[in-house]
Amino acid sequence: MLNSSYEPLRIVNWQKALILWFQGKVDILAHHQSFVRSISKSFPLPSVIRLRKYVRGQETTRIRFCRENIYLRDNFMCQYCCEQFPTRDLTLDHIVPVSQGGKKDWNNITTACRTCNQKKGSRTPEQADMPLLKKAEEPRWLPALKFEVNEKTAPSDWFIYLNLDEKLA
Ligand SMILES: [Zn+2]
Repeated sequence: MLNSSYEPLRIVNWQKALILWFQGKVDILAHHQSFVRSISKSFPLPSVIRLRKYVRGQETTRIRFCRENIYLRDNFMCQYCCEQFPTRDLTLDHIVPVSQGGKKDWNNITTACRTCNQKKGSRTPEQADMPLLKKAEEPRWLPALKFEVNEKTAPSDWFIYLNLDEKLA
């Protein structure tokens, strides 16, 4: 789904896309090859939709605070040893441990491999002498969207909006 200014906002499923279209909130800019049928009609599935009214980023794009999105924010990289791991080898670490009053939010949860998480234990990065690769923050929408889609996973209709064209050359 694009903003009225053509910026990519987020990925919505086709059901949501059709609902927004029925409600007159979006225009369909491109379709998939497949169709969805109701009793009397059939509709091509939208692959790119654009909001008719401009919305400001924050209103629609607040990123959900959950395990997957934290891994995405951190690019599947342990923030202590700076290596990438498959999801099964990653854990979520409280930067300031719960025992020292650390909260469970974007600013205090980071991605750590099992080894680093165990090594750090219930200490702060300073106490453990394990500096963080980067400060933990609430991510903005665009980086997260870019991690989610690349030229292998995105339908080709999306490329021009995501500036993926150059990579294909
Ligand atoms: Zn690690």
